[in-house]
Amino acid sequence: MTTDEMTLTPSTTQQFHQNNGLLSIQRQVASLAARLPRDLEPLAYIAYNYAWSWSRTGRRLFASVDPERWLACGENPVRLLHDVSGDKLGAAARNEQLVADAHALLSQLEHHREEDAVPIGDATPSHPIAFLCAEFAIHSSMQIYAGGLGVLAGDILKASSDARFPVVGVGLLYREGYFHQRMDKSGWQHEYWVPLDPERTPAVLVTDPEGSPITVSVPLRGRDVVVQIWRVDVGRVPLFLLDAQRPENSLQDRWVTSQLYVGDKAVRLAQYALLGVGAVRALRVMGLEPSILHLNEGHAALAPLELAQGLRGEGESLESALSRIRNRVVFTTHTPVAAGNEGYSTDEIAEVLGDYPATLGIDISNFLQMGRTNPDMEHEPFVMTPLGIRVAHLSNAVSERHGQVAREMWHPLFPDSSVEDVPIGHVTNGVHLPTWMALPMRQLMDQHLAQGWEQRAADPETWAPLQDIPNAALWEARQQLRTEMFEKLRHKIVTDRLSRNEGKARVSQALTGFQSDKLTVGFARRMAAYKRIQLLVSDPDRFVHLLDQGMQLLVSGKAHPQDDDGKKGVQNLFGLKGDELIGRQLAFLDDYDLAIASHLVSGCDAWINVPRPPLEASGTSGMKVVMNGGLNISILDGWWCEGFDGTNGWSLGADITYDQQVQDERDAQFLYDTFERQVIPLFYDRDASGVPSRWMEMVKRSMLTLIPRFCASRMIADYARLGYAQV
Ligand SMILES: *Cc1c(COP(=O)(O)O)cnc(C)c1O
Repeated sequence: MTTDEMTLTPSTTQQFHQNNGLLSIQRQVASLAARLPRDLEPLAYIAYNYAWSWSRTGRRLFASVDPERWLACGENPVRLLHDVSGDKLGAAARNEQLVADAHALLSQLEHHREEDAVPIGDATPSHPIAFLCAEFAIHSSMQIYAGGLGVLAGDILKASSDARFPVVGVGLLYREGYFHQRMDKSGWQHEYWVPLDPERTPAVLVTDPEGSPITVSVPLRGRDVVVQIWRVDVGRVPLFLLDAQRPENSLQDRWVTSQLYVGDKAVRLAQYALLGVGAVRALRVMGLEPSILHLNEGHAALAPLELAQGLRGEGESLESALSRIRNRVVFTTHTPVAAGNEGYSTDEIAEVLGDYPATLGIDISNFLQMGRTNPDMEHEPFVMTPLGIRVAHLSNAVSERHGQVAREMWHPLFPDSSVEDVPIGHVTNGVHLPTWMALPMRQLMDQHLAQGWEQRAADPETWAPLQDIPNAALWEARQQLRTEMFEKLRHKIVTDRLSRNEGKARVSQALTGFQSDKLTVGFARRMAAYKRIQLLVSDPDRFVHLLDQGMQLLVSGKAHPQDDDGKKGVQNLFGLKGDELIGRQLAFLDDYDLAIASHLVSGCDAWINVPRPPLEASGTSGMKVVMNGGLNISILDGWWCEGFDGTNGWSLGADITYDQQVQDERDAQFLYDTFERQVIPLFYDRDASGVPSRWMEMVKRSMLTLIPRFCASRMIADYARLGYAQV
């Protein structure tokens, strides 16, 4: 289908497309700027676009306005500029360096925004690639994410902005976000929710020229739920967030966009319907007829039905319209276990979706068939993933290994194909380099790599000069990153212990332990049971021996509120209370989020990943570590099957043993052996000038071989080639 044909479709509303919230942003910027001294006005513009967060100067700029308030505001610049005192603003306006930096950053960001978009296939800014996801992790000041899926979605938007792809994101604005975590003294997780005040973030409501919010409605539970649209700018990419907090809606309907991945299954289904149907309606009401729908995980899988519905000709069936838009749908699956794909019974579907399927012109039984693996098995639940796979022209897993797993898992959908021929490919995940490579490392690369290296991160040639960086210079950068991490985190380690009432001894151990020249190892991710945190401490004596040999371990991560196995896994760490070494060299950081992640992945020397294979679809935190010169010690699963080459980190084997206890014991032995015999000795093996040169050689191999393959710019180039350019 060509762009012209799409423009002619009756459902494309033209009246608002000139604006899409940009005017609302300009209005908010102007009102914030009016509160600031003239010389600081650029800060208001910068604050309303998250591009500052991956620029080189943005964070320093806002922090220097008022360092304490900056931290107190959770590094949220809109809040900072509202809350900072007049005195501090006056002083900042007299700070010539700050004013010059603000003007320089503003013109750099504006210049990038004004450049032309790079067309991909048929996609253009008014017929964009619409990237749909239930969560987006853009920055820790916008808590609408849970973990890896959201981080990936955020990184895709940022990399698309850098590459000037015509992408828009669509998600939900959760008024309470994801839960926060507080651990008690016994290591048991407690959850609490903090309201998110969108007015105090860079989100603005998309309004009509008179200033009233533009809304769409989505049929849910027999009612039309009214949805308003927030816009958050992520560089050049607008992220539209749907929100049911409207006075027209009942309290129950408003609740739909309150909490991410809430407990109640019917509410979750309502969220996913609101996202899938609402995304297409919201884009259309803004005059944006998507050229491509990219469904990041199954949640939004109703969107292609809604897209097809709008393009259905007179008397044309939905199936026929769906087949015409097939090459405009990309579906990415992230879940390598069947049980991870939530299923809904016929009653649940009927309760939540009501007569929506009927409005599409299909009867409910045909609709249900699209979500079943075996369409005619009437007791089978409706699952979004089979629906997504059926309607997309490209379905992809997120690593090569996960591709194999997904083809086996979904083979029953294609009974006439062999497993190898199941039409699910893979695009391996990557991470956004400017977000995840810490400033000191970027500055070191500036000195040694050719100009423009960040734009060419996916080209292996870019990284060739790494080999010539003196080990001492790279080591110095590593020392700086580790030291800065402890400067930032020590305070938190102490206050976490105080708030758990861990006792005076533990608190003072936190104050004097954690040396910034010791081998520091990280383990941080969602605490799902398959991530097997308990392996680290399964042999307490051997674990303490590792600490004795000079290792420190930092751990962080949340378990899903209903996942008691995940919570018990974490509790194993807190059981190890006896030894003083544990208090001085092992810390659990409460309430894992993007901010903690960025400290850990830049400061840690080594990163442990011990998932139960083959359950790690990809994993991305290890890629972030690579970008900062840390090394991976990982089970061969997910991305590490592609990344590990024998010289760039350590592998802990890949064998799958179906007796889980046997497998856990064996993998734990591997882990301890690797640390005792290889990791710790290599780190402390120093040359005459005190540099661990053999360790640094391995770091260079890791960066050289892995960054070009696991950066987000490589990933989005793959999506463009395999998924977006096929129209
Ligand atoms: C990168 C990241 C993740 C994903 O880590 P995995 O290694 O894929 O499990 C989860 N949460 C946060 C906050 C992250 O930054």
